[in-house]
Amino acid sequence: MKALVLAEFGRLDVVEYPDPVAASGEVLVAIAHTGICGTDLHGYTGANGRRVPGMVMGHETAGVVAAVGDGISGFAPGQVVTVNPVVVPTDDAQAWRGREQQHPG
Ligand SMILES: [Zn+2]
Repeated sequence: MKALVLAEFGRLDVVEYPDPVAASGEVLVAIAHTGICGTDLHGYTGANGRRVPGMVMGHETAGVVAAVGDGISGFAPGQVVTVNPVVVPTDDAQAWRGREQQHPG
């Protein structure tokens, strides 16, 4: 697969990675479209501190489920999906509850 990677502040590279697989507890999404937002632009320049060199860019994305790992229910290959790119460790979920971009349930 190809990914747009922040090689260094002010430079993006298209990098080839091995095709991912859905591990246990994961959903693999075949990305169809990804937007570029202001956060990405400021990350590209290094102005906001939210991106570091080596990161794959683009966090507003949509695609279809390509595979589901063990223990996943409610998703099936071919289903159109988007993602919430904010990842919170399960142990910290209570502390994050109610914050912007964090689902309260
Ligand atoms: Zn954004």
